[in-house]
Amino acid sequence: MVSEHRTADVNFESLLRIFTIPEGPDSTLTQIEEKLSRNLNQFLREHIVAEEKPLLEIEKDFSNASIPEQPEFVSDHTQHLLDTLVSHSVHTSAPSFIGHMTSALPYFLMPLSKIMIALNQNLVKIETSKAFTPLERQVLGMLHRLIYQRDDNFYAQWMHSANHSLGAFCSGGTIANITALWVARNNALRAQGEFKGVEKEGLFKAMRHYGYEGLAVLVSERGHYSLKKAADVLGIGQEGLVAIKTDNDNRICPAALKEKIAELKQQNIKPFAVIGVAGTTETGTIDPLQEIAAICQAEGCHFHVDAAWGGATLMSNNYRHLLAGTELADSVTIDAHKQLYIPMGAGMVLFKDPEAMKSIEHHAQYILRKGSKDLGSHTLEGSRSGMAMLVYAAMHIISRPGYELLINQSIEKAKYFAELIEAQPDFELVSKPELCLLTYRYLPAHIRQALMAANSEQKAELNELLNELTKFIQKRQRETGKSFVSRTRLNPIHLDRLNTIVFRVVLANPLTGKDILGSVLEEQRCIAAQAPNLMGKIEQVVEKINAS
Ligand SMILES: *Cc1c(COP(=O)(O)O)cnc(C)c1O
Repeated sequence: MVSEHRTADVNFESLLRIFTIPEGPDSTLTQIEEKLSRNLNQFLREHIVAEEKPLLEIEKDFSNASIPEQPEFVSDHTQHLLDTLVSHSVHTSAPSFIGHMTSALPYFLMPLSKIMIALNQNLVKIETSKAFTPLERQVLGMLHRLIYQRDDNFYAQWMHSANHSLGAFCSGGTIANITALWVARNNALRAQGEFKGVEKEGLFKAMRHYGYEGLAVLVSERGHYSLKKAADVLGIGQEGLVAIKTDNDNRICPAALKEKIAELKQQNIKPFAVIGVAGTTETGTIDPLQEIAAICQAEGCHFHVDAAWGGATLMSNNYRHLLAGTELADSVTIDAHKQLYIPMGAGMVLFKDPEAMKSIEHHAQYILRKGSKDLGSHTLEGSRSGMAMLVYAAMHIISRPGYELLINQSIEKAKYFAELIEAQPDFELVSKPELCLLTYRYLPAHIRQALMAANSEQKAELNELLNELTKFIQKRQRETGKSFVSRTRLNPIHLDRLNTIVFRVVLANPLTGKDILGSVLEEQRCIAAQAPNLMGKIEQVVEKINAS
């Protein structure tokens, strides 16, 4: 065990050592590294404690705001990290943790990440990235081709063209969505006559020039919260992000979309972009993209597809038809850190037209010179790491058919789980899986019958209690630490659009076996039995309904 009093010296020689190599093969750091390399998953399993520690307790370990005056030895500090940080982290790669969009990672990415970090290339400009710049451009080309399927000539002409860009690599779907709407906004408020464009003169003058009272972006009510941030930072305002109602299957209603566009135009508000979601975060649903594309075409507004989570489905020849219409989009967001199994920090936005990003081009004298191949002239972010290398490696090592297998098995596992839930007398499938995401809740048959027979007041009362039960089960399951499902709130039509809390499951981890799915349900059933008070209240309302 580490003694509290072991201290290192502050001197330049030892500082130099931490910039070079550990002292030798027997050094603690070398030993730690070897242990990590031998079996990282086992290492994590051994060091993450399952049972949840209250956050208030954990905060005590992170309460000191002073920067240490006394250096620590690497080995001591590593032990400290294992005790305080690793032990209370979330085991996202565990096969029974089926509540997140990010899960297990292919092992080869761990040593490759080390190379990436050691090289520490900065993709903002070619001087600090060299081969990483063409590599990233190729990765963007691969994703562009996955979506738009242009021919070899197209990519030979545009992929490495200094003055063009097929998209932007960024930290995630949020920045990708902001970038897409930034391009759309600047194109909608472009230079005209005396007006030099919104990017030069700002929103206020742009609105005056074009004579608009406001701007709007339309998306279904299941749109991701990142779009609200985008509307805010782009000066459109959160109220400028207009939510369109969804149908029984959580898809945007095209008729309602058309109506809303007409209404906004009547008020002299410019709807400059419509977003179709290809895999909503809450239900995994895909909007009718072809219909939205036709509406955008007719209205002359930018069509963006948010496929942050679902975009990887295009890798599967079996299932890519589910995303039909994505290729009609002016821009598409895909997160490689979701269903492409890349570590966090790998988002992309792709543009159909290689000229599209011109509207957000920025140049600076000392870097990002005009005509250079610097990626930074088209990215919102400045300094950026070489994450594209990991996408590149995974594309080659896993390959398209490999990804297809992963996608197919995820979708088929979700279908299996949906059938399993429907076969249980005491569970209700709330949203069917289109991809590998579904929602459900614990609802014994006699309670379900009462719920259907209830009048609207009773229904609201009973549903509220069921919400409490779902929350209780989800929380207890998480705290126990054996398995994890997430939860969200929906407003299903069959429940009169009442706020309904549901379990949310994402089945992307290839290590999750069917047996685990069965035991997740069994565990939830057991937890429900540990809430006698709540179940008692529910039974009372059920009796009341049955008596009336
Ligand atoms: C995850 C997600 C985002 C946001 O992506 P981040 O990588 O978390 O920034 C946006 N849209 C959808 C549909 C998503 O699933």
